[in-house]
Amino acid sequence: MTNNQQLFDSARRLMPGGVNSPVRAFGSVGGTPVSMVSGEGPYLTDAEGKQYVDLVGSWGPALLGHSHPTVIEAVHRAVDAGLGFGTSHPSETQLAELVRERVPGAQMIRMVSTGTEATMTAVRLARGATGKNIVVKFAGCYHGHSDGLLAAAGSGVATLGLPGSAGVTDAQASETVVIEYNDRAALEAVFAEHGASIAAVITEATPANMGVVPPDPGFNAFIRELTQRHGALMIFDEVMTGFRITEAGYWGASGREEGWTPDLFTFGKVIGGGLPTAAVAGREEVMAHLSPTGPVYHAGTLSGNPVAMAAGVATLQNASADVYAHIDKTAQVVANALTAALTDAGVDHSIQKVGSLFSVAFGTSAEGVANYSQAQAQQSFRYGPFFHAMLEAGVYLPPSVFEAWFLSAAHDDAAVEQIIAALPAAAKAAAEA
Ligand code: PMP
Repeated sequence: MTNNQQLFDSARRLMPGGVNSPVRAFGSVGGTPVSMVSGEGPYLTDAEGKQYVDLVGSWGPALLGHSHPTVIEAVHRAVDAGLGFGTSHPSETQLAELVRERVPGAQMIRMVSTGTEATMTAVRLARGATGKNIVVKFAGCYHGHSDGLLAAAGSGVATLGLPGSAGVTDAQASETVVIEYNDRAALEAVFAEHGASIAAVITEATPANMGVVPPDPGFNAFIRELTQRHGALMIFDEVMTGFRITEAGYWGASGREEGWTPDLFTFGKVIGGGLPTAAVAGREEVMAHLSPTGPVYHAGTLSGNPVAMAAGVATLQNASADVYAHIDKTAQVVANALTAALTDAGVDHSIQKVGSLFSVAFGTSAEGVANYSQAQAQQSFRYGPFFHAMLEAGVYLPPSVFEAWFLSAAHDDAAVEQIIAALPAAAKAAAEA
């Protein structure tokens, strides 16, 4: 049997860092990445036959757990009918309808293939619709890897400690203004200085790429108010949160705020049910600027691919209130056990949590992390030993302290018990780091 080390050595000869996406390389936690060969329910199995309780969930899509029978069956049916036609077909409308009926403000939808493409398209649409150039983003928020959105980004950019990316021109970077998250005064100052030129403010509905950082009460509504006052659009990036966090009866993080909607949303992850699909959605009048009805160009050979649509439709149809209640409850149980284990081991920390999405920050005060500077100032060196102790005990966590932990409907009592049993030794390893 080929082991994880041999597989990674082969991968490294062929792919930069041995991976197709950087955080997978275990760069910040050290050690050899584990090669997974199958997933079922809450579990992943690696190339050596070891089983793990999975808390990555394919980085979000696996809301129902791996290989959910209904989703797999729907995908098989779609595959049997053909892999893609490059034409209109019924299931793209079906998925769009499921998004629209659950997200107030998502009046029209354009399917794309990745979250990066969704946010890139949303930004172009905002510029095209307003005739303005500047985009405001928050430090530590990650909106995919398109040029203009990489400044002070979270996720892998944060994990690798990069200010942005080589290969992004000054001209592109200069049209992105970056300010600290949860900072109302900074947002007001940006609008006071550049108000007439701001096309959009883009924000994660709940940031979860610098660890989870809850918006201060009313912060999203404040963004809405300022953008509206200055004729700028508000882009709510729900690639991570959409159809995962459900605070107030809707199905995305937007549901947490009442009485207003953003102009544009981006979705990804859960709406593709594990296959490559994402979407831009929003007000009809803004969305109408997209080609072919308007002058803002977007196209995609695989946009709305029928196999991906089938996975998304089956996932959303099965994402019932019970599913969300289970995930919320399970997240609370795991978060409570995590904080208890770390407290027993004498590790200062905060649990960064909004709904079912949470992460841990080390060496912080109990109030936790409110922005990127605070996230970067934490004792991230404690995470590597913590991560490896969990891995050893058969729990697969995100290999970076800046990433959220993802639970699913399939995380049952046995899986949760395995996580809880692994925590004390991991907390001890974090304490001794
Ligand atoms: N926006 C957010 C909020 C994300 O979390 C991500 C990915 N983690 C993206 C955009 C980019 O999505 P993708 O990786 O599918 O390009």
